[in-house]
Amino acid sequence: MEANATPRDRAASHDLADIRAQFPILEREVNGRPLVYLDSAASAQQPQRVIDRIERYCREQHANVHRGAHALSVEATEAFEGARQLVAGHVGVSDPAEIVFTRGTTESVNLVAASWGAANVGAGDEIVLTKMEHHSNIVPWQLLARRTGAVLRYVDVTPDGRLDLDDYARLLGPRTRLVGVTHVSNGLGTINPVVEITELAHDAGALVLVDGAQAAPHLMVDTHAIGCDFYAFSGHKMCGPTGIGALWARRELLEGMEPYQGGGEMISEVTLEGSKWAEIPHKFEAGTPNIAGAVGFGEAVAFLSDVGHDRLAAHEDEIIAYALERLSAVPGVTLYGPRENRTSVFSFTLGDIHPHDLSTILDQGGIAIRAGHHCNQPLMDHMGVSATARASFYLYNTRAEVDALIDGLGMAARVFGGVSSTE
Ligand code: PMP
Repeated sequence: MEANATPRDRAASHDLADIRAQFPILEREVNGRPLVYLDSAASAQQPQRVIDRIERYCREQHANVHRGAHALSVEATEAFEGARQLVAGHVGVSDPAEIVFTRGTTESVNLVAASWGAANVGAGDEIVLTKMEHHSNIVPWQLLARRTGAVLRYVDVTPDGRLDLDDYARLLGPRTRLVGVTHVSNGLGTINPVVEITELAHDAGALVLVDGAQAAPHLMVDTHAIGCDFYAFSGHKMCGPTGIGALWARRELLEGMEPYQGGGEMISEVTLEGSKWAEIPHKFEAGTPNIAGAVGFGEAVAFLSDVGHDRLAAHEDEIIAYALERLSAVPGVTLYGPRENRTSVFSFTLGDIHPHDLSTILDQGGIAIRAGHHCNQPLMDHMGVSATARASFYLYNTRAEVDALIDGLGMAARVFGGVSSTE
């Protein structure tokens, strides 16, 4: 803490120390240096209470869920369904039956493409996506298009990393069945105007799927306020475990959709001739679910709720401002994505140093960043790069960790030499 820190700065720093203390992994060293974890957009770390909750479930409460008459099964079911309620609350949903547990955002999108898509998209119909979508909101639609003869259209991205809304309006038409858009770009940090995008899509008679993988961890999400039809997100990006996520959709939509997979749990009756489906959301949850994962996911959203959105947002604003200021001042750094209306995901290159080399050098100093195409190959092509380095921050990161990143970049520039002016 600097000598001229105000009492408010001191309180904030106390607060951050308190949050950091809840994440045991932050105490470890990597390559002999304190871990500086700047890869939360790929997967966030888990606080002790999430780890404890999963452990307590495994140690004391584990049994298969639903229909069990014994005490443990009842307890496991209560924990599982309680988690669904918590997850629903996190995205402003009051009816937990509208939350389908999936393996994550990827499976949520695949579910919609396979189930809703197969019934509602035919040859010549159009699906509008954007050039900044993660592969998981492109490839399932390509599979559907291949099966049905539907046509995919992609909204352009402006040089400052925003969606070109004029291009979007032009792409919408009478054949548009669905618009798929990421709420926050994992490659650029851009927060997209999903309310406006949804209104325009609905005016054109199309439904809207929002990929919330990068938004649900950072923003106050209210699916009803957005007005969209489907919202997909992942537990592991919001302090929960991997292998669990959710799809939200309006009740009547889910009720009208065919199951995604068949098996146990998703039926009400099976005969050799045919079957009847269980009520939503179980109709979409074939087989024994990831119970421990769901319970951990529920605890993660309870943790985020206890931290409080205001604290989260204030910290995020501070980190964004500081990281932007410091990164922009590094000679040779090219920063991608907008300066405003963004989250704390920063994609950049440093001179002509390959992002993988940059990441390797930083790792020697205990600094974890990601390098590559970030499952954003069409976006990278659009930006004319094959890869970027990406530093992503979350509620436990400090200004000192921004400084560590900047020092690491300085060291990389010295090691590789020849970093000239911005390119
Ligand atoms: N969409 C976006 C914007 C993402 O950042 C990610 C994860 N990188 C995904 C979708 C896929 O999430 P998951 O791997 O958890 O299914």
